[in-house]
Amino acid sequence: MPAKPVPRPDLDSSAYFEAARHGSLLIQRCQTCARFVFPPRTACPTCLSSHTLEWREATGRGYVSSYCVVYRPHHPSFYDEVPIVFAAVAMNEGPIMLSEIRRVLPNRVSIGLPVRAEFLQLDGSIFIPVWVPADRPIQASVEMTCLTISANS
Ligand SMILES: [Zn+2]
Repeated sequence: MPAKPVPRPDLDSSAYFEAARHGSLLIQRCQTCARFVFPPRTACPTCLSSHTLEWREATGRGYVSSYCVVYRPHHPSFYDEVPIVFAAVAMNEGPIMLSEIRRVLPNRVSIGLPVRAEFLQLDGSIFIPVWVPADRPIQASVEMTCLTISANS
Protein backbone atom coordinates (compact mmCIF):
# COMPACT_ATOMS: atom_id res chain seq x y z
CA MET A 1 0.00 0.00 0.00
CA PRO A 2 1.57 3.31 -1.02
CA ALA A 3 1.89 6.07 1.56
CA LYS A 4 -0.70 8.83 1.63
CA PRO A 5 0.15 12.11 -0.05
CA VAL A 6 1.24 14.63 2.57
CA PRO A 7 1.18 18.41 2.16
CA ARG A 8 4.54 20.14 2.41
CA PRO A 9 4.48 23.48 4.26
CA ASP A 10 5.92 26.40 2.33
CA LEU A 11 6.59 30.04 3.18
CA ASP A 12 2.86 30.93 3.03
CA SER A 13 1.55 27.90 4.93
CA SER A 14 4.20 27.05 7.53
CA ALA A 15 2.41 29.00 10.32
CA TYR A 16 -0.84 27.22 9.44
CA PHE A 17 0.73 23.76 9.71
CA GLU A 18 2.64 24.64 12.86
CA ALA A 19 -0.61 25.75 14.55
CA ALA A 20 -2.43 22.63 13.31
CA ARG A 21 0.26 20.52 14.98
CA HIS A 22 -0.88 22.08 18.28
CA GLY A 23 -4.61 21.71 17.59
CA SER A 24 -5.26 25.27 16.47
CA LEU A 25 -6.88 26.28 13.19
CA LEU A 26 -5.32 29.47 11.84
CA ILE A 27 -6.61 31.38 8.85
CA GLN A 28 -5.47 34.66 7.41
CA ARG A 29 -7.30 37.98 7.60
CA CYS A 30 -6.61 40.92 5.34
CA GLN A 31 -5.79 44.09 7.28
CA THR A 32 -6.90 46.21 4.31
CA CYS A 33 -10.37 44.81 3.51
CA ALA A 34 -10.99 42.74 6.70
CA ARG A 35 -11.84 39.60 4.72
CA PHE A 36 -10.76 36.19 5.96
CA VAL A 37 -8.64 34.22 3.52
CA PHE A 38 -8.11 30.50 3.04
CA PRO A 39 -6.02 28.65 1.87
CA PRO A 40 -2.87 30.50 2.99
CA ARG A 41 -1.32 32.82 0.41
CA THR A 42 0.78 35.95 0.02
CA ALA A 43 -1.81 38.42 -1.30
CA CYS A 44 -5.49 39.02 -0.54
CA PRO A 45 -7.64 37.49 -3.32
CA THR A 46 -10.35 40.15 -2.76
CA CYS A 47 -8.48 43.50 -2.75
CA LEU A 48 -5.14 42.17 -4.06
CA SER A 49 -3.18 43.84 -1.25
CA SER A 50 0.08 42.07 -0.71
CA HIS A 51 1.73 41.47 2.63
CA THR A 52 -1.37 42.62 4.54
CA LEU A 53 -2.49 39.16 5.67
CA GLU A 54 -2.27 38.43 9.37
CA TRP A 55 -2.95 35.14 11.16
CA ARG A 56 -6.06 34.73 13.27
CA GLU A 57 -7.32 31.72 15.18
CA ALA A 58 -10.52 30.46 13.56
CA THR A 59 -13.51 29.23 15.53
CA GLY A 60 -13.11 25.77 14.04
CA ARG A 61 -16.83 25.81 13.32
CA GLY A 62 -18.77 25.83 10.09
CA TYR A 63 -21.31 23.95 8.03
CA VAL A 64 -21.36 21.63 5.04
CA SER A 65 -22.06 23.75 1.96
CA SER A 66 -21.64 20.87 -0.51
CA TYR A 67 -20.38 17.29 -0.40
CA CYS A 68 -19.93 14.06 -2.28
CA VAL A 69 -19.32 10.49 -1.22
CA VAL A 70 -16.18 8.92 -2.65
CA TYR A 71 -16.30 5.17 -3.29
CA ARG A 72 -13.38 4.95 -5.74
CA PRO A 73 -10.51 7.15 -4.58
CA HIS A 74 -7.88 8.19 -7.10
CA HIS A 75 -5.04 7.31 -4.74
CA PRO A 76 -4.65 3.68 -3.58
CA SER A 77 -3.70 4.76 -0.06
CA PHE A 78 -7.36 5.67 0.52
CA TYR A 79 -8.86 2.36 -0.69
CA ASP A 80 -9.33 1.04 2.86
CA GLU A 81 -11.21 4.17 3.98
CA VAL A 82 -14.18 4.22 1.60
CA PRO A 83 -16.77 5.52 1.66
CA ILE A 84 -15.18 8.92 2.25
CA VAL A 85 -17.35 12.00 2.67
CA PHE A 86 -15.56 14.85 0.91
CA ALA A 87 -17.07 18.24 1.55
CA ALA A 88 -16.86 21.96 1.01
CA VAL A 89 -17.08 23.35 4.54
CA ALA A 90 -18.11 26.98 4.90
CA MET A 91 -16.15 28.16 7.91
CA ASN A 92 -17.85 30.63 10.28
CA GLU A 93 -15.30 33.23 9.17
CA GLY A 94 -16.42 32.91 5.53
CA PRO A 95 -13.82 30.97 3.53
CA ILE A 96 -14.57 27.50 2.16
CA MET A 97 -12.31 24.59 3.08
CA LEU A 98 -12.33 21.38 1.05
CA SER A 99 -11.91 18.55 3.51
CA GLU A 100 -13.18 15.27 4.82
CA ILE A 101 -16.17 14.80 7.12
CA ARG A 102 -15.38 12.04 9.61
CA ARG A 103 -17.21 10.06 12.27
CA VAL A 104 -20.55 10.16 10.46
CA LEU A 105 -22.30 7.78 8.09
CA PRO A 106 -22.57 9.19 4.56
CA ASN A 107 -26.37 9.05 4.68
CA ARG A 108 -26.31 11.28 7.78
CA VAL A 109 -24.50 14.12 6.01
CA SER A 110 -26.57 16.91 4.54
CA ILE A 111 -26.03 20.40 3.23
CA GLY A 112 -26.19 22.75 6.20
CA LEU A 113 -24.88 20.18 8.70
CA PRO A 114 -23.00 22.06 11.45
CA VAL A 115 -19.44 20.77 11.81
CA ARG A 116 -16.38 21.43 13.92
CA ALA A 117 -12.72 20.92 13.14
CA GLU A 118 -10.53 18.18 14.50
CA PHE A 119 -6.97 17.46 13.55
CA LEU A 120 -5.67 14.35 11.82
CA GLN A 121 -1.99 13.42 12.00
CA LEU A 122 -0.79 12.37 8.57
CA ASP A 123 2.93 11.87 8.79
CA GLY A 124 5.40 12.88 11.46
CA SER A 125 4.57 16.44 12.42
CA ILE A 126 2.00 17.16 9.68
CA PHE A 127 -1.56 17.57 10.93
CA ILE A 128 -4.55 18.61 8.83
CA PRO A 129 -8.04 19.67 9.82
CA VAL A 130 -10.91 17.29 9.18
CA TRP A 131 -14.49 18.01 10.22
CA VAL A 132 -16.98 16.12 12.35
CA PRO A 133 -20.63 16.84 13.12
CA ALA A 134 -20.71 19.61 15.73
CA ASP A 135 -23.46 18.04 17.80
CA ARG A 136 -21.98 14.54 17.90
CA PRO A 137 -20.67 13.39 21.29
CA ILE A 138 -16.93 13.33 21.62
CA GLN A 139 -15.19 9.98 21.21
CA ALA A 140 -14.74 9.58 24.98
CA SER A 141 -18.54 9.52 25.40
CA VAL A 142 -18.83 6.76 22.80
CA GLU A 143 -16.19 4.73 24.65
CA MET A 144 -18.02 5.28 27.95
CA THR A 145 -21.22 3.93 26.38
CA CYS A 146 -19.39 0.84 25.17
CA LEU A 147 -17.93 0.26 28.64
CA THR A 148 -21.37 0.54 30.21
CA ILE A 149 -22.80 -2.03 27.80
CA SER A 150 -19.95 -4.42 28.52
CA ALA A 151 -20.39 -4.08 32.29
CA ASN A 152 -24.10 -4.95 32.09
CA SER A 153 -23.75 -7.99 29.85
ZN1 LIG B 1 -8.02 42.40 1.20
